Amino acid sequence: MPSTAPTATASPVSLALDLAAAGWHVFPLTPRDKRPLANCLDCRDNPDCPADEYTRCRCIGGGQWCHGVRAATTDPGRITTWWRRVPAAIPAVAAGPSGLVLIDLDHHTDQPPADPAARLLPGLTLTENQIPGGFAAVRDGADVLRLLARLRGGPNPWPADPAYQPVSVATPSGGRHLWYRAPAIPTDKTNHRRLRQALGELGWQIDIKAAWSYGIAPGATTRAGTYTIRAGALATVGQMPGWLTREVLRVTAPRREPPPPPSRPAGQDRGRAVAYLHAVIEDGAAELAPLTDGRKAALSALAYKTGGLLAWAGQSRTDVQDRLVQAGIASGLPERLARRIVHRALTNGLARPLPAPHDRHTSTTP
Ligand SMILES: [Zn+2]
Ligand SMILES: [Zn+2]
Repeated sequence: MPSTAPTATASPVSLALDLAAAGWHVFPLTPRDKRPLANCLDCRDNPDCPADEYTRCRCIGGGQWCHGVRAATTDPGRITTWWRRVPAAIPAVAAGPSGLVLIDLDHHTDQPPADPAARLLPGLTLTENQIPGGFAAVRDGADVLRLLARLRGGPNPWPADPAYQPVSVATPSGGRHLWYRAPAIPTDKTNHRRLRQALGELGWQIDIKAAWSYGIAPGATTRAGTYTIRAGALATVGQMPGWLTREVLRVTAPRREPPPPPSRPAGQDRGRAVAYLHAVIEDGAAELAPLTDGRKAALSALAYKTGGLLAWAGQSRTDVQDRLVQAGIASGLPERLARRIVHRALTNGLARPLPAPHDRHTSTTP
């Protein structure tokens, strides 16, 4: 892994300058409570300078730090001046101006949600057997992201290609920050608006921070400890995998409802779609065969994914259900149980059509 990571002992100003040199827009937080440094009295009290009309603020143009994240900059002169005034200020990064999206995985000790089937992944209704170990095994944001990856990303959800490597940061509280390059969404204005508004919950203990949201800078040290870079390079932040981009857009949509069934491919493409669907089933069956633990969950996940692809491939459940049941029986499950699992998971998958798949990468976990 190329190490462009600032060392944990870097002073706040040299960290801020390193980040700015890599194109990350930074601004200062107070060391005491990690809030943006206070506005000048004029900006605080002047009704003609509300924070949402910051472009009219003369302070920002004049190099002040008023309006917090909106003053974020890559200008080394401005950064040097700010940190000369408050040397202990904690650098923070403005996501949108830096062209980044932060997936913030918390590690709280809260009780899990009372209704995990509906609350772990908003917009998706889970069943206990979709999760190895059941709901009780899901303890933090990283667990929830892994679950989402399994349901939506296919058998190899994390591309091994370094082009997909986020800057991955261990937080002092045991959480994880994944900084990705903001997805390029060239044609769809609605998607752009969603991403601009993307301050939301991807799942329980997973926040999305984009646009004018910000995060503590990778490498920064707060009173709680250091935000330690574990992987990735500041100057070449990886792109989000396609499935994760789709999920971010899904949960930031104004109304949370399943996406419409994708349009069916025609002719030769139709043949490829059917072949793809069969490859998904055969890959899943091959993974299922040697399992002794987690067979029910694996069969359920496979049938759920298959159900999600049926509309796209122009197939019906009767085209696939016997093959899925056979895969369950081959792994040692009793036939009646395999049929029940396949029936239920196909029904759930059909209710949540997946978008047309287009990236199948070999992969690793970030
Ligand atoms: Zn001001
Ligand atoms: Zn102002």
